[in-house]
Amino acid sequence: LASRDVKEEDTIIRFEGTDAQIGGRSLAIVAGPCSIESREQAFAIAEQVAKAGAQFFRGGAYKPRTSPYAFQGLGVEALKIMAEIRDQFGLRIITEAIDNETLELVAEWADVIQIGARNMQNFSLLKHAGRLRKPVLLKRGMSATLDEFLMAAEYIMSEGNYEVILCERGVRTFADHTRNTLDLSIVPAVQRLSHLPILVDPSHGTGKRNKVLPMARAAVAVGADGVLVEVHHQPEKALSDGPQSIYPEQFVTMMNEIEQIAPVV
Ligand code: PEP
Ligand code: MN
Repeated sequence: LASRDVKEEDTIIRFEGTDAQIGGRSLAIVAGPCSIESREQAFAIAEQVAKAGAQFFRGGAYKPRTSPYAFQGLGVEALKIMAEIRDQFGLRIITEAIDNETLELVAEWADVIQIGARNMQNFSLLKHAGRLRKPVLLKRGMSATLDEFLMAAEYIMSEGNYEVILCERGVRTFADHTRNTLDLSIVPAVQRLSHLPILVDPSHGTGKRNKVLPMARAAVAVGADGVLVEVHHQPEKALSDGPQSIYPEQFVTMMNEIEQIAPVV
């Protein structure tokens, strides 16, 4: 179902009541903090990314953290904050579900359900997401091949949900100058085999703030359908992923730079 042999034209995911779309001839820009930490934090960031031209707001309500003692997310409270952000700024909301239980809640409150790298082969979660009628943003597993990535999408589609958005977020390699190695060549590789849109996440892909803008430009140049970036107004105080979160001013610069490469609608 994910294959170009089955469907030749690109899949475009549209959102009622907005011009925002993912796939097709415009760039989708997803921006926001790694985690929703408070109403104040989320609103401060949303206001700035909306003004700079993002169409989608991201923020974790349920966080898959390496340590069980690290901040795990605000849960439903965060989902409610993001619903308010949708109403106030007209941004569509993307947030992660980490298991079947949080999937129901995320589907109820958000516009796009994110399935994270660590869950890319959680086949039970993929099948459940496939039974919902909400777009799913599927992040590439940190050691997933192209085939494994597309097969994970297939799990969702095989249950009847065809609105799948792929997202390259870097893979584990021996390189240690970045958190992950952003594998940009997967963008044309996916586009050859599949009609599904693919975004690039240079934040998790590099783990370093100073590498996010160059890799966002590269992602757009290589033909990605959009970028997903972590933005924080006070990254030194962020409860997760501060070192890779760009400042709102940098986000404005990024938008100006990528608009010279491809149109953002
Ligand atoms: C995230 O988007 O905050 C996240 C946890 O991403 P990934 O699953 O790619 O690590
Ligand atoms: Mn993060």
